[in-house]
Amino acid sequence: MGNEIRFRRVLLKLSGEAIADKKNGEIFDSGIIDKIAGIVKRLTDDGVEVAIVIGAGNIWRGVYGKGLNRARADEMGMLGTMINSMRMEDALETAGCRVTLMSSIPMQGFAEPYDFRKARRHLEKGKVVILGGGLGTPFITTDTAA
Ligand code: UDP
Repeated sequence: MGNEIRFRRVLLKLSGEAIADKKNGEIFDSGIIDKIAGIVKRLTDDGVEVAIVIGAGNIWRGVYGKGLNRARADEMGMLGTMINSMRMEDALETAGCRVTLMSSIPMQGFAEPYDFRKARRHLEKGKVVILGGGLGTPFITTDTAA
């Protein structure tokens, strides 16, 4: 019996820690990342539109930057979200998903600039949209962006 579809569009918020290999002190747990990618693939196969926001707690958070300029430390966190987003993009492509990575911070060559109309169109075409960089402003976290 197939799963009942309750939502047409979902936004998945992953914390950085959710994709970390805490046991070995590595920033990525490839097993978990591939598992998440497989779940997302099944959702898109069922016609569910999936957008993903990823944090950076496995790499860096602004609050870790004791003695640093806070805005700069938060920008480092935003870059961390891009590293995680690129890792997840690769896993999703390997799982067979079509993916677009968008960034709130211009990052030509790595990601499309965020544009909500374009994001919506990608989703409607069945592409997974990863939203990197949070909101692109300091003093907040990716939870706000999500
Ligand atoms: N960040 C930011 N603005 C944003 C999104 C993120 O300044 O719009 C920075 C902030 O320093 C934050 C870090 O990026 O702590 C990583 O994001 P978050 O703490 O949400 O990661 P998570 O807890 O989800 O792993």
